[in-house]
Amino acid sequence: MAMKALDIYKLLPKTNCKKCGYPTCLAFAMKLAAGKAEVEACPDLDPATKALLGGATRPPIRLVQVGVGERAVAVGEEFVLFRHEKTFYHPPGILVQVSDTWPEEQVRSIVETVRDTVVHRVGMDLVLNGVAVRNESGSPDRFAETVALAGGGSALPLVLIADDPASHEAALAVAGHYRPLVHAATGENWQDLAALAKRYGCPLAVRAAGPGALAALARSCADAGAQDLMLDPVPGSIQNYIAVATGIREAAIARTEPALGYPIYLDATRFREIDAALAAGILKYAGIIVAPPLSPATVTAALTLRQNIYTDPQKPIQVTPGVYPINDPGRDAPVLLSVNFSLTYFTLLGYLEASRIPCYLFVVDTEGLSVLTAVAGGKLTATLVADSLRNFGVEELVDHRVLIIPGYAAPLSGKIEDATGWKVMVGPRDAAELAEYLEKEWVA
Ligand code: SF4
Repeated sequence: MAMKALDIYKLLPKTNCKKCGYPTCLAFAMKLAAGKAEVEACPDLDPATKALLGGATRPPIRLVQVGVGERAVAVGEEFVLFRHEKTFYHPPGILVQVSDTWPEEQVRSIVETVRDTVVHRVGMDLVLNGVAVRNESGSPDRFAETVALAGGGSALPLVLIADDPASHEAALAVAGHYRPLVHAATGENWQDLAALAKRYGCPLAVRAAGPGALAALARSCADAGAQDLMLDPVPGSIQNYIAVATGIREAAIARTEPALGYPIYLDATRFREIDAALAAGILKYAGIIVAPPLSPATVTAALTLRQNIYTDPQKPIQVTPGVYPINDPGRDAPVLLSVNFSLTYFTLLGYLEASRIPCYLFVVDTEGLSVLTAVAGGKLTATLVADSLRNFGVEELVDHRVLIIPGYAAPLSGKIEDATGWKVMVGPRDAAELAEYLEKEWVA
């Protein structure tokens, strides 16, 4: 089990010397317990205590990076079993598989699709992460050529899938500097692949059925010098994947089996129900998911699910409060009050831009809460609206003094009028009705 802050504190020098960068030993202990500090930061620990604390406070799942540069994917370093306990930090990389038996044009087309696919959602750009090349030709040269084609110039992370060490050796000779994930070390080839992964400084996936066999293989590869590992449990079904992945995650978090403290690799190409396999991997602890070429609808669903699961449940996604002009508004344009919850903002933005009605979207800071929650929780108040009107200079933008507030903020209408001196109109509750409401009710 991970050590608690007070247990860690008992082992520290308790001099509060601040050399670690924290004001007290207790503050340092709390950071260590949360996995947010390194034990080496305290110079006054003896080697035995350092070793003890290092083992107990390092993240239960190793952080492993695949690829280099801006599009590199870092996975692992998770601390909890359930998202609501804290948060999940490193979203799984989704990589699309190509075969080295496919024509060059087909491979090139998939690489370009992966590289250029972007789903815009709530102000964020969601992307696929890379390409996995499977050695189906049996030829090391053909494999290396396809790997070079997939990696050359695309800057995308790669997975090299082959059982034959000679194929990996050929592929790493052309793409080792991209830090690809080598897949997969098995009971038969692990010595060769661990040596290659060590030589090229690349991560290595180990493949075995079941947690016990995986842990044994991971231990052997780590002892051989391949430190950045991933675990491919070779699930027989999606249900089996969920069960095995949950068991691995539980053992890693509880630190009952340190050799399972690595990110999980899911080969989703094994399953016909690709949407279900992607969802299972995203929800249940996959670090790398390899998928077949995906339809746009599946890509959108998978990237949206991943975004939702890997946002901090305690911190809603927010936009910057302020005044946003939409459709080139003039001095007679309506001013619409809203909140800085991203989903609300982008939903409104979509409807308003489509309506072509010029207006100002006046977004106040409710700490990312929706209108209904902000009203109920006292985060959307008449004082906030009055202060924000003044601070954002809304009065200088329009000649009128009329504010349209969301339907869910209707209980505040009187107070907002008193606090701002503006006339308040109560708009609809549903953003979809806003355009019709403005056309009927707004008179400049
Ligand atoms: S450096 Fe060590 S002894 Fe000094 S405050 Fe930090 S934890 Fe305490």
